[in-house]
Amino acid sequence: MADFSRRDVFKLAGVGALIGTMHLSSTACAATTASRMLPPSKGNRVVIVGGGWAGMTAAKHLKKEMGDKVDVVLIEKRKIFMSCPISNVWLGGLVEMDFLMHDFHTPASKYGYTFINATVTDIDRDKKRVYTTEGYVDYDYLILAPGIRYNYDAWFKGDKDMARICATHFPSAFIPGSEHVALKRKVDNFEEGTFVLVVPPPPHRCPPAPYERAAMIAHVFKKNGVKGRLIILDPKDQIKPKGPGFRQAYEQLYLDIVEYVPNAKVKEVDPVNKVIKTTAGDFKFDDANLNPPHQAGDLAWKAGLVNPKTGWCDVDQLTLQSKLDPHVFVAGDASSVKGFPKSGDMAHNHTQNMVVKALTALLKGKDPYEAVKAPTNTCYSMVNGSPKEAIVINVLYEIDRKKKAPVKKKVNVENTRSARLAHATFEWAKALYRDMFS
Ligand SMILES: Cc1cc2nc3c(=O)[nH]c(=O)nc-3n(C[C@H](O)[C@H](O)[C@H](O)COP(=O)(O)OP(=O)(O)OC[C@H]3O[C@@H](n4cnc5c(N)ncnc54)[C@H](O)[C@@H]3O)c2cc1C
Repeated sequence: MADFSRRDVFKLAGVGALIGTMHLSSTACAATTASRMLPPSKGNRVVIVGGGWAGMTAAKHLKKEMGDKVDVVLIEKRKIFMSCPISNVWLGGLVEMDFLMHDFHTPASKYGYTFINATVTDIDRDKKRVYTTEGYVDYDYLILAPGIRYNYDAWFKGDKDMARICATHFPSAFIPGSEHVALKRKVDNFEEGTFVLVVPPPPHRCPPAPYERAAMIAHVFKKNGVKGRLIILDPKDQIKPKGPGFRQAYEQLYLDIVEYVPNAKVKEVDPVNKVIKTTAGDFKFDDANLNPPHQAGDLAWKAGLVNPKTGWCDVDQLTLQSKLDPHVFVAGDASSVKGFPKSGDMAHNHTQNMVVKALTALLKGKDPYEAVKAPTNTCYSMVNGSPKEAIVINVLYEIDRKKKAPVKKKVNVENTRSARLAHATFEWAKALYRDMFS
């Protein structure tokens, strides 16, 4: 009898996974096949989907604010956390991979939230239920933090084969995992010729990341004596943010290697013949890092919470509650708040100071707008590998309570690269990893 029910459970989980991968509107099917994973909560239950920068911050800080008064459940599909921040520095060979890796179990155990390692296959907002490959969980409030997805359709107009070829041979590595390892192998093994890096159009995850990546690739090419060049194809008319800092690094450190091409909007990508056509001309390449446009993660689309005109989730500008469902908060890159960059630092900051504060107030029967605090955003970029040198931008926001929106109060940019800022880069990362994971 015990054996039979175990097999049964596996069978059901398998069906759930199949439904998830088939991208059916699976609510009805899942409801009949998946089983309840957790007993009904005695009080309020908040389910957080996505254990990235926003989700990890939400789980810890909600538990810190509310203690036993709220049941917090974090659902994440990855087996291990890998950080995109500092991944360019790793690409440049300046830090080991284990610096980027963290476990989901230590913080869940320490702060007392439930961690479920499963893929969310569907969300039924009417029932307030999340379906996963392991069963379903009901919520009172949902924090949706699924990050981004690549919009290859913008390049290949629905040709899935070409999109797959492009993603396989020229992985973007803007979503953490195997793609980063593939990109590093490419960069380390490149001997001669033309390497192209395509900057995605804004808004995209981490505005300075493509330029930092270019600097780190150029550093490796310089170190390895590569007989070749790195062409940066940028749809914008100039490098933003930290333009002067990146330009100086390219000109002073990598003059023979880096060629920066502005106004290069992608018209056509041919990953088979290795040609990319842009508004600034056509470019043939030997190898490449091809970065398509970004959109809110798949799950946000499945939940029907994305504005198809923008590709991102419309949210209240102070609480980050979905404009379409007040029981759902959208945290991190998937949300759209005017003036907020899509960065790990911002995901951490707005989740802690806005999402968690607003939700805590709601759960306590208080005014969420009064509770939110202004976030900041700090973003370091490593531009030199030998010696290690970085530049930085820091933005302070304030809350305009009349407009019910955050506004920029002060912007500080240090475009002069320095070892001090390189040291600060690592200290910044360590502090945030510490906050989320230990
Ligand atoms: C190369 C690079 C360098 C960067 N450098 C910096 C930097 O120096 N500083 C900085 O501040 N930011 C940086 N960023 C940006 C930063 O990585 C993102 O802004 C940040 O990760 C956003 O956090 P998030 O929680 O929204 O998304 P993510 O961190 O991507 O988390 C989303 C999570 O949701 C999970 N998920 C998705 N779908 C499901 C599902 N169906 N079921 C279960 N789980 C699911 C994913 O597995 C993932 O763990 C960089 C990004 C890149 C690509």
